[in-house]
Amino acid sequence: NDQPDPDPSKKTLVILGTGWGAVSLLKKLDTENYNVVVVSPRNYFLFTPLLPSCTTGTIEHRSIMEPIRNFLRHKKAAVKFYEAEATKIDYQKKVVYISDKSEIKGNSSATQVPFDMLVVGVGAENATFGIPGVRENALFLKEVGDAQAIRKRIMDCCETATFKDQSQDEIRRLLHMVVVGGGPTGVEFAGELQDFFNDDLKKWIPDIKSNFHVTLVEALPNVLPMFSKQLIEYTEKTFKEETITIRTKTMVKNVTDKYIEAESVGPDGKKVLEKIPFGLLVWATGNALRPVVKDLMMQIPAQKDSRRGLAVNEYLVVKGTESIWAVGDCAVANYAPTAQVAAQEGAFLARLFNQMAKTEEIDQELKKLSAAQETAPNKETRDQVFTEIKELQKRLRRVKQMGPFEYSHQGSLAYIGSEKAVADISWLTGNFATGGTLTYFFWQSAYLSMCFSTRNRILVILDWAKAKIFGRDVSRE
Ligand code: FAD
Ligand code: NAD
Repeated sequence: NDQPDPDPSKKTLVILGTGWGAVSLLKKLDTENYNVVVVSPRNYFLFTPLLPSCTTGTIEHRSIMEPIRNFLRHKKAAVKFYEAEATKIDYQKKVVYISDKSEIKGNSSATQVPFDMLVVGVGAENATFGIPGVRENALFLKEVGDAQAIRKRIMDCCETATFKDQSQDEIRRLLHMVVVGGGPTGVEFAGELQDFFNDDLKKWIPDIKSNFHVTLVEALPNVLPMFSKQLIEYTEKTFKEETITIRTKTMVKNVTDKYIEAESVGPDGKKVLEKIPFGLLVWATGNALRPVVKDLMMQIPAQKDSRRGLAVNEYLVVKGTESIWAVGDCAVANYAPTAQVAAQEGAFLARLFNQMAKTEEIDQELKKLSAAQETAPNKETRDQVFTEIKELQKRLRRVKQMGPFEYSHQGSLAYIGSEKAVADISWLTGNFATGGTLTYFFWQSAYLSMCFSTRNRILVILDWAKAKIFGRDVSRE
């Protein structure tokens, strides 16, 4: 067995997840201080901001993935990684139950991992609000597999629409691309899809030209509620120019394999339930709790009033526990569930854990010095030890001076299609809202700089260049 045994003198820190929160914690964590174990069903980090671009092949999915093994091998001390799902966290026993959900299983595929400290960074599931038919008939946009499924479905719809003797109604249905949810995921996807049609599809498959149509359905009165009013208007205007239909104040109530049923208010003020046929349906209505998080919340009385996730204190400790922390979309710390928040929370925990280890080290040193002071053979040695103790106590006070987590909002950015983006940016001097082609270049450079590695950065630049020079690939697979 090549795996090193855990060091019994160190605490075991278990980290669940390999997303924004967990990976930014791992990046800055001094792994020499703990026996670090990472558990996640995904053995890679995914740069989600560019995932909408993978649905149309503007960017290839592997360009925004970074293998976790590649990253862990550069850490100072070995980190164990188990590709598995945490199925249950037993808070009292301080154990996580994990299960290998991949296709290939060995003779051990479900086991337990004990922890002294646990960080929950498992993200969130797709919200469906229990609306019938969503899980069976819609595609989501959260993981690499989702983007691949969407890409394949777009092409399948286009090719099937051009099949011999297809009826006109069926052609219109197949080429109707419906997106539910006018948050940034829905808006960015709708923009990317319209780009795909404008730049490539209509040239490659001219037969679909007059029937291909994108509709965005949103229950609220406007899309992108987190952006400023002027950028909401700019987005809606851009979509209109691009012929993307926005249906606001329209709530989807039911989904079948060929149409959605959506409720809106008619001109007479009465509610109308309308059937909207679709070929592709992408569901982007936000986040819901993962079962493992729900289960943990039920074990902790202090979590009983929390609905949206694990309630945490200002040091990201899960309320009602002493040894569990939570970061990212599964934690409720009064910030929006974004990558920006998750990354800052992860980096904060790394600093906190590094500091906790230092504190412990100094405490041990102080204990040793106190003992040495008592057994000192003469006054001179006692005085010398006393000075050392004072020095260490001063250092301890400095190390312990770590304030609570404070989120620093850098702004919100979203791509809206036709090489335009919107940005609400926080500068030192105040807030600044902008939209357009220049903002698109800013969006591109901001996301490039945020990419995980130089390798990712180069691959993304090459993908953008490739799509510009050769067009996107319209093969179905
Ligand atoms: P995630 O990054 O989702 O990671 C969760 C991790 O936990 C994954 O590795 C997952 O495999 C793992 N996991 C799941 N279940 C278990 C389990 N049972 N046991 C162990 N591990 C588990 N935010 C922005 O700020 N800017 C953007 O431009 C932006 N664009 C986005 C675009 C899209 C299409 C999407 C879907 C989201 C976007 N977001 C953006 C939001 C952002 O991705 C999330 O807020 C962020 O990923 C949250 O980080 P996280 O670490 O909490 O979760
Ligand atoms: P969201 O929660 O931001 O938006 C979901 C939208 O779906 C809401 O506007 C809601 O009114 C609508 N909706 C819900 N049920 C509906 C129904 N039955 N019919 C019609 N509309 C319905 O979700 P999201 O866009 O997936 O984003 C999730 C999180 O990720 C957010 O915090 C977001 O800020 C973040 N994110 C950020 C970016 C970015 O910054 N560019 C991109 C993607 C996601």
